[in-house]
Amino acid sequence: MFQNLIAGSWTDGPLAYQNINPSDTRDVIGEYAQANASQTQDAVSAANEAFATWSLSTPQQRFDILDAIGSELLARRNELGNMLAREEGKVMPEAIGEVSRAGNIFKFFAGEALRLAGEVLPSVRPGVGVEVTREPVGVIGVITPWNFPIAIPAWKIAPALAYGNCVVFKPAELVPGCAWLLADIIHRSGLPAGVFNLVMGRGSEVGQVLLDDARVAAVSFTGSVSTGKRVAAACVARGAKFQLEMGGKNPFVVLDDANLDIAVGAAVNSGFFSTGQRCTASSRVIVTDAIHDRFVGAMVAKMATLKIDDARMAGADIGPVVDERQLAQNLAYVAIGRNEGATLAFGGEALSINANGAPGFYMRPALFTETAPTMRINTEEIFGPVVSIQRVRNYEEALLVANDTPFGLASGIATTSLKYASHFKRHAQAGMVMVNLPTAGVDYHVPFGGRKGSSYGPREQGHYAAEFYTTVKTAYTQA
Ligand code: ADP
Repeated sequence: MFQNLIAGSWTDGPLAYQNINPSDTRDVIGEYAQANASQTQDAVSAANEAFATWSLSTPQQRFDILDAIGSELLARRNELGNMLAREEGKVMPEAIGEVSRAGNIFKFFAGEALRLAGEVLPSVRPGVGVEVTREPVGVIGVITPWNFPIAIPAWKIAPALAYGNCVVFKPAELVPGCAWLLADIIHRSGLPAGVFNLVMGRGSEVGQVLLDDARVAAVSFTGSVSTGKRVAAACVARGAKFQLEMGGKNPFVVLDDANLDIAVGAAVNSGFFSTGQRCTASSRVIVTDAIHDRFVGAMVAKMATLKIDDARMAGADIGPVVDERQLAQNLAYVAIGRNEGATLAFGGEALSINANGAPGFYMRPALFTETAPTMRINTEEIFGPVVSIQRVRNYEEALLVANDTPFGLASGIATTSLKYASHFKRHAQAGMVMVNLPTAGVDYHVPFGGRKGSSYGPREQGHYAAEFYTTVKTAYTQA
């Protein structure tokens, strides 16, 4: 039984969760302890007590610890990547890449601990000095989803610790394996007991405590829009700081002048890699008339070459969907698209048995063509390998369609025109814009986040993370 980490001790829970491999449901990865509400409160108490000393730790202490965590993640990236692929279904190269990213994030924030700067200004009053400094916030509740089970926890936990906060980490139910391995590495890094706590369990029980406990000063959440709204309401009610990363319905525009290979490569990557389970995936591809038919033909040809297989099988391009519920939802959306009158140009069917005979949650990526902007497949986040193509007359119409969504996380364009690329970078209503690149797959040292209904609060990652994980103090001194 893999246990929770509370106040520096590995602790059993009243219940256990069986972690299943979505590539082969006969493979049970392990039993993971589920914390209850009172254990979560114990974790909050421990973090709250540890804050008194950890908040005064030196930047060198924090650098050494975060750097050591980063080094171990990088050294064990194949092993942790294997766990990620096994419990989440991401293919091995992507899974190993995600662990490397997590390692690099810890190393980046190790450096940030040394670089936290303030400001010294003259006062408007004679003989008075003004200093603006940043201090840690307190206990941070970290609530994460299943689709990036190592990278998203890393990009919340690393800055929280780097700036002197304590953490209670509640991972998604489906991916306790990566969370436990990360917690084990953090636990052995030399961090004082209670500074970092792991509580695995249900969102409605464990997560809810983090939203409601007055000692949790801030909540960083990534997940669905509906849960995000609960996080916001609970945090506003008690005046806690919060940050939300939620859904997307990201557009990818293909203009007549695009390099066809680049456009198809980026659209296939954005739409289908990680089985379409990325918040930065692009599910709406908006294509101008003159290139439309060539583009669709090339997409279908490329999709036919994708190898759908066990996530840990060499050569697999697309692994399974994460679980049965998500698979049923994807297939339901394929049916909805057909009923709405869209043309299913490729795929969309469940594959009950993969090449090796293992029972898993497989489906062939789906491509819809001749879709209208009002169709549900173009307005609702599916979170699976389902992409719809919309035909438009020109760039101006493409931009209008691209921005016509309540979401605003990422937005992409394939074009060789400097004029259109420049215009799109300025006018795309999204937190991140990609030119001739997939909408998914971002650097770890620069801000990540969206606009409109996708995100709320300060950006994550890069030095912008200080905005959320520190609080500003203005000090006045009369000499
Ligand atoms: P996803 O589609 O990624 O599963 P969710 O929003 O359901 O999105 O889950 C994201 C995270 O939020 C998970 O860790 C989940 O357990 C947690 N969560 C779900 N419900 C609540 C809640 N009421 N309070 C706090 N956290 C919750």
